[in-house]
Amino acid sequence: MIYVSTRGQAPELSFEEAMLTGLARDGGLYVPAEIPTLSEDEIRALHGLSYEETAFRIMWPFLGGTFTEDEFRGCISRAYEGFGHAARAPLVQLEPGHFLLELFHGPTLAFKDFAMQLIGQLFQTALAKNGRRITIVGATSGDTGSAAIEAFRGLDNVDVFILYPHGRVSEVQRRQMTTPADSNVHALAVDGDFDTCQARVKDMFNDFEFRDEVGLAGVNSINWARVLAQVVYYFTSAVSLGAPERCVSFTVPTGNFGDIFAGYIARKMGLPIDTLVVATNQNDILHRCLSTGEYKPDGVTPSISPSMDIQVSSNFERVLFDALGRDGGAVGQLMDELKAGGFTVPQGALQALQEAFTSGRCSEEETLATITEMRDLTGELLCPHSAVAVKVAREMRDPAIPMVSLATAHPAKFPDAVEQASHIRPGLPERMADLFDREERFTRIADDLGAIEALIRERRAH
Ligand SMILES: *Cc1c(COP(=O)(O)O)cnc(C)c1O
Repeated sequence: MIYVSTRGQAPELSFEEAMLTGLARDGGLYVPAEIPTLSEDEIRALHGLSYEETAFRIMWPFLGGTFTEDEFRGCISRAYEGFGHAARAPLVQLEPGHFLLELFHGPTLAFKDFAMQLIGQLFQTALAKNGRRITIVGATSGDTGSAAIEAFRGLDNVDVFILYPHGRVSEVQRRQMTTPADSNVHALAVDGDFDTCQARVKDMFNDFEFRDEVGLAGVNSINWARVLAQVVYYFTSAVSLGAPERCVSFTVPTGNFGDIFAGYIARKMGLPIDTLVVATNQNDILHRCLSTGEYKPDGVTPSISPSMDIQVSSNFERVLFDALGRDGGAVGQLMDELKAGGFTVPQGALQALQEAFTSGRCSEEETLATITEMRDLTGELLCPHSAVAVKVAREMRDPAIPMVSLATAHPAKFPDAVEQASHIRPGLPERMADLFDREERFTRIADDLGAIEALIRERRAH
């Protein structure tokens, strides 16, 4: 199994190299050269299996010998043992023919745990085998940083440094980053906003001397291993609704396009998915692009579903690559145009995108109204991101085909919006009810590259 860059100019890599590298050297994203498929019999054989066993069967063909079967099974088992639900990704019925896939039972209560917990184990296993140490550095506006810290805390061959904007993340998000006591976890509260944090991380990756000295690595959402981990729950949910005999559709609250891209891969692997619906909030650049072919960023408007507040959707490049007939040069050209302000998807490629995806948008008022309505109809409290999906799903769905809406975060992660809509203040699950009593540990630091690098040199284990 080899991996190629969406811009066609970087070397082909193995699974392990693509996972540890992240971004390709030509600025592109790694994708498998070809997608392995499962036969109908192989899909049928998934009925009744555990989440972990399904995960093994779906992901194994993509690994190309990086790990032994036992090593990989061990990684999967450790990745999901800390989840608060035996099914890992349980399916709940909302109304006839409409289901909610609860992806918020992981340690930080958001779907990012599915991928992050697994790559923590995969990194650790790969590094232990070749005796390397790495330093993971990431910037976060909240969710990704806590998921990364939970995934890498306590691992032997990794130090993790997360930069977050001081005073600008929610209390739950901050406490999830500052309360782990493990010595390899370092939460840095930067004087600045999220863009400042992200810019300093970029600067560190561009400082090649520093990068090599500390073995810098990234775990942002373009990492192929993260996408792969998310393919699994499309299979487990579709199979429990009757696949391969029955088709299923999915609606996905979308930002960086990683989660819905995993659904697209599941369909290419042979899972009978009828429709993949991209649901956006008021930051609807993806909805507009899929409708008209115009991709023109025009500034982010902060919303109550902040993890979807994006303008440049990094994983969208991966579907563009397919839609453009896997022509890396054509992808590179569109990405150059994006730097200059925006691009127009060529007609043939737009048609291919519209065959693969449909899309819808949900305003702030509609998000709140959906939380209220679903509380009344079902008793289920939705987080604002999940409400965006449910609203768009109800608008678009075909009653003859089961629709699964993805619930990407626990309502207690966004208590203010949920309370405003439902008059119920959602509580944290019992296993983390003491979050507000745990001791916090973080380092406040100026927005100064030299100071940040010096701190990382000093704090990481040698
Ligand atoms: C990251 C995130 C999303 C968006 O997922 P993408 O893969 O970036 O499209 C949606 N909801 C929540 C709660 C998230 O944390």
